[in-house]
Amino acid sequence: MKKIGLIGGMSWESSMVYYELINLKVRELLGGFHSASCIMESLDFAEIEKLQHEDDWEGLGKMMVQAAQNLEKSGAEVIVLCTNTMHLLSDKIRQNISVPFLHIAESTGKNILEQKIKKVALLGTKFTMEKDFYKNILLHKFGIEVIIPVKDDREIVHDIIYKELVQGELNDNSRSKMVEIIKKLELAGAEGVILGCTEIPLLIKQKDVNIHVFDTTKIHAKDAVAFALN
Ligand code: GLU
Repeated sequence: MKKIGLIGGMSWESSMVYYELINLKVRELLGGFHSASCIMESLDFAEIEKLQHEDDWEGLGKMMVQAAQNLEKSGAEVIVLCTNTMHLLSDKIRQNISVPFLHIAESTGKNILEQKIKKVALLGTKFTMEKDFYKNILLHKFGIEVIIPVKDDREIVHDIIYKELVQGELNDNSRSKMVEIIKKLELAGAEGVILGCTEIPLLIKQKDVNIHVFDTTKIHAKDAVAFALN
């Protein structure tokens, strides 16, 4: 089994889920007393959130590279970045490490194609929905059409993530708002919805909506185990 290096803390609410899912999957596949071989470099999200909203991607890039290199030095054989948003810096990370980096949008793209879905909605932080780094991978590597909510709805999703989910707050009213937004995207032709923020699956479950839900935390964690056991 390869050692998985997790860059976590963004936020720790979802890093915990990664840790649990990875261990559950290893137990399911190997049985007995088996558990995952992994290490986590968990960052202080206050610093990350500040730099994100100051648009300091240069500074964030340095932090991500440092974290990935620390994990590699500690023996990690694959790097898993436990957040969608920070994949904006994936090229920079890949250029500065010598072990594989498991990209969350690539794992998700593969999963969407397996479901034979060609048009999906993407929910996440404003950075993930509005910038091209995530949508381009789905479109150019996988031929998947991606739609995003209208501006006001993007604000709502972004605010729910930063004001509630990363702070461990799950609110029924926010769930209803998000379900409404997903319904609009369904009417616009989305056959599935990517929960493209690792905390959204804490709030939205498959049973809440009609279209196929792509839980990026689960998909990414499962891919990490597949890689580690390969
Ligand atoms: N975990 C979130 C994501 O998947 C948001 C927190 C962050 O900005 O990293 O995008």
